[in-house]
Amino acid sequence: MKTYTWKGLFFASLLFYMPVIIAGLILGLLSELLAVAFFLHIIWHYLYLKKLNNWLWNSKSTILPDGKYEWEHAFIGIYNLQQRLRNRRKKLARMISRFREGAEALPDAVVVFQKGGEIIWCNRLAQVQLGFKWPGDGGENITNLIRNPDFVNYLKNEEFHEPLGMISPLNTEKFLEFRVMPYAQNQRLLIVRDITAYRQADQTRREFVANVSHELRTPLTVLQGYIEILNMQVESGTPQGKAITVLDQQTERMCSLVEQLMVLSKIESAPTIDLDEQVDVAALLAQIEDEANALGEKKQLTIVFNIDNQLGLLGNEMQIRSAMTNLIYNAVKYTPVNGNIQVDWSRADHGAYFSVTDDGDGISPHHILHLTERFYRVDHSRSRDTGGTGLGLSIVKHVLTHYDSELLIESTLHEGSQFSFIIPESYVIE
Ligand code: ADP
Repeated sequence: MKTYTWKGLFFASLLFYMPVIIAGLILGLLSELLAVAFFLHIIWHYLYLKKLNNWLWNSKSTILPDGKYEWEHAFIGIYNLQQRLRNRRKKLARMISRFREGAEALPDAVVVFQKGGEIIWCNRLAQVQLGFKWPGDGGENITNLIRNPDFVNYLKNEEFHEPLGMISPLNTEKFLEFRVMPYAQNQRLLIVRDITAYRQADQTRREFVANVSHELRTPLTVLQGYIEILNMQVESGTPQGKAITVLDQQTERMCSLVEQLMVLSKIESAPTIDLDEQVDVAALLAQIEDEANALGEKKQLTIVFNIDNQLGLLGNEMQIRSAMTNLIYNAVKYTPVNGNIQVDWSRADHGAYFSVTDDGDGISPHHILHLTERFYRVDHSRSRDTGGTGLGLSIVKHVLTHYDSELLIESTLHEGSQFSFIIPESYVIE
């Protein structure tokens, strides 16, 4: 293609004006002929400008209009620009339709909306599960359609790392999980999943565990009673005496297992903390200190409690007691004779700090990640000897999730361990 240059423009003008100038000089009418030539030149440009305007605004044709000299160049330039835009638009449309096809294939409701809440698009399941209408609800604010205050606050607080569980706005029998993700620039992607079946299964499991543990308590108490009577009647050292000692130990183990299972299901089924209850942690730890000293007496453990007496918590005393006793009793159980244990309850930068440090058995790193799983024990026989159930740390983890906290475990094999957590400021009272 011919490129347009100043030189080209100069020679084209020269070609047009030179005959006019020569004729003007010969005829002695230079200025008149030049004026006519200028006028014709302007008309010529005006006609092409009109052609361009017609093509841009009135014509639907994509065929390039004819042009001469610089106008030909301008037409080709505009045409190329148009083609590039058209291709880009096609590419974008293909991308959007691929995204929509993908979102339609998902088993979840999907809604794309602006940071301010205006709905940009939703898939078919969003229409079924949330009652949205498409395209009618396009541009509508999402909080006008889902008015639940929990959802409105969830969007407002912009803390999307945890999903929001909520009863369906259309059917109170259904439970939905809402997940919001920042998406593109200033947009949000909402994914809503129906978790009713999962919740029901989880509820059934919890109820089953709670019922079985409860039902086992009575026969176990009866067994323990008879074993106690038999224990008094047989002589120790005899085969019968040994058998009854084993029976006694095993029923004791079953009792603590049932007890721990009941605590765990109680904690699991109470997901929200009642912030009206004030827990005197110092008094609680004073009680636990006596119990820990009694437990550790045989092994001559040195147990030191450093307690901030002013520091209390809002929440459930049973749960806090469970978390703290499990960690302290574990230290007593897994620290050998003459060992040292230190319990700290103090102020931290962003809340209250609790830690139990011992110079006991320690735990090798590959076990640490699994310690809070139910029934996980590092050494089954050792744990059995100490009356362990493998549920203690699982209870601690559950309690701490209610307080938006987590258990930190640092341990070196044969050197000792530290179990600690920080309860956030919002639960702390002084
Ligand atoms: P258990 O009832 O068996 O003690 P836990 O859930 O309380 O169950 O603890 C899980 C495992 O973690 C225990 O079996 C034990 O091996 C290990 N453990 C817990 N606390 C300590 C500790 N202070 N020192 C060494 N090992 C520990």
